[in-house]
Amino acid sequence: MSPPLPPPISSFTPKVAILGAGIVGLATAFELAIKRGVPVTLYDPAPMGRGASWAAAGMLAPAFEAAAEEGVHPHLFELCMESAELWPDFSIDLAHSADTDSGYSGRPSLALAFDMAETAAMHQLARALDARDVAHEELPPASAHLLEPSIAPDLIAALQMPTDGQVDNRAVVRALIMALQRSPLATLRSEAAPLRSEGGRLTLEGHDLILAAAGWNTAAIKVEENGQMLSLVNWAPALDQIDCYGGQMLSVAHGYGSPETTLRCGSIYIAPKADRVIIGATMEPGIATDAPAPEAIAALHARAARLCPVLAELPVIETWAGIRPGTPDHAPMIGETNTPGLFVAAGHYRNGILLAPITARIIADMMLGKSLSALHASFTPARVFEAA
Ligand SMILES: Cc1cc2nc3c(=O)[nH]c(=O)nc-3n(C[C@H](O)[C@H](O)[C@H](O)COP(=O)(O)OP(=O)(O)OC[C@H]3O[C@@H](n4cnc5c(N)ncnc54)[C@H](O)[C@@H]3O)c2cc1C
Repeated sequence: MSPPLPPPISSFTPKVAILGAGIVGLATAFELAIKRGVPVTLYDPAPMGRGASWAAAGMLAPAFEAAAEEGVHPHLFELCMESAELWPDFSIDLAHSADTDSGYSGRPSLALAFDMAETAAMHQLARALDARDVAHEELPPASAHLLEPSIAPDLIAALQMPTDGQVDNRAVVRALIMALQRSPLATLRSEAAPLRSEGGRLTLEGHDLILAAAGWNTAAIKVEENGQMLSLVNWAPALDQIDCYGGQMLSVAHGYGSPETTLRCGSIYIAPKADRVIIGATMEPGIATDAPAPEAIAALHARAARLCPVLAELPVIETWAGIRPGTPDHAPMIGETNTPGLFVAAGHYRNGILLAPITARIIADMMLGKSLSALHASFTPARVFEAA
């Protein structure tokens, strides 16, 4: 299928360079080139889509991830909800452009409790959802077992969260790459962008605007100045706040009685996809490795089998580790930096798959001179200096 014609642009159309082809860079390129008719060049020196966006579990989980977390950006939950609402249409648009399905499912997730502490945590989450007027339902164990028979029999309570769906994140990045390869307005380059600084001005030949979207590595993007290679953080000091948070994961094969619902219990989750069941994840601040650690993986597998005993019997397909890009308030930086023409979309922490569609919209709106809502504007990278 040929790509749809982009909408006509009435005023000046910028040429945009995007540095980083994870889900954030790819989704923004999709929004700009395919939906808004803006020419885009996407640069990535590593295989595209293989960073955190490949490692993730693909849960779209505003309720479980953001409703009750304390000390985070005050509007993170609203942004997560807005993006969750964009996902059904985003996945349809992507399917039309790439001729492939990306495994979006609105099937509600279940939070599970097997002891008093987990029950207390579940009730705290339910109260946070009540306070935000977000739909949820506490289910007795018998009802939860009817919905998901693989859950262990000693379940005490379950909370159904209709806001929390999922997607196959690997299928999404593959589809985004396919859609962009078909677009006459998108150029994909497997190399680092030749950024230069001339008289203090950041330039990239042939481009008017630059988006830095290199996940946890965004601050380290290289810029050449007078023959020296410097880091982008010198042009955008806020990027210094983006840190790495390692995560170990595994997947097992589907088998008789394997789970079909996304299940959450504390830090353990089970995210069934069409062709595998993902089990995650550790959260390791300051760790940037893509090497799986057998002991951590075995512990995850054992803890997941406490939720769903059948998982202990199913063969492991793959083990891996990924690196989440985090910020002090666990929310992404989305917006223009203090260097005019240099934008950033990075630091999405545990919610980068969920937040990709709204991030792409905000960056495209800003680059095309549209005014932002107060909610969107509050994710400016400048906030890290206001908080200091
Ligand atoms: C174990 C784990 C589980 C997760 N589960 C979920 C989940 O269930 N739901 C959810 O919403 N989120 C989840 N996340 C978080 C999510 O994966 C991230 O927030 C998101 O993928 C970040 O996307 P990104 O595009 O910013 O970064 P990445 O996907 O890491 O992409 C960055 C890209 O930049 C490239 N790059 C690096 N340096 C340069 C350079 N100098 N120039 C150009 N390009 C460069 C890299 O090669 C890479 O392709 C999880 C993360 C992990 C690790």
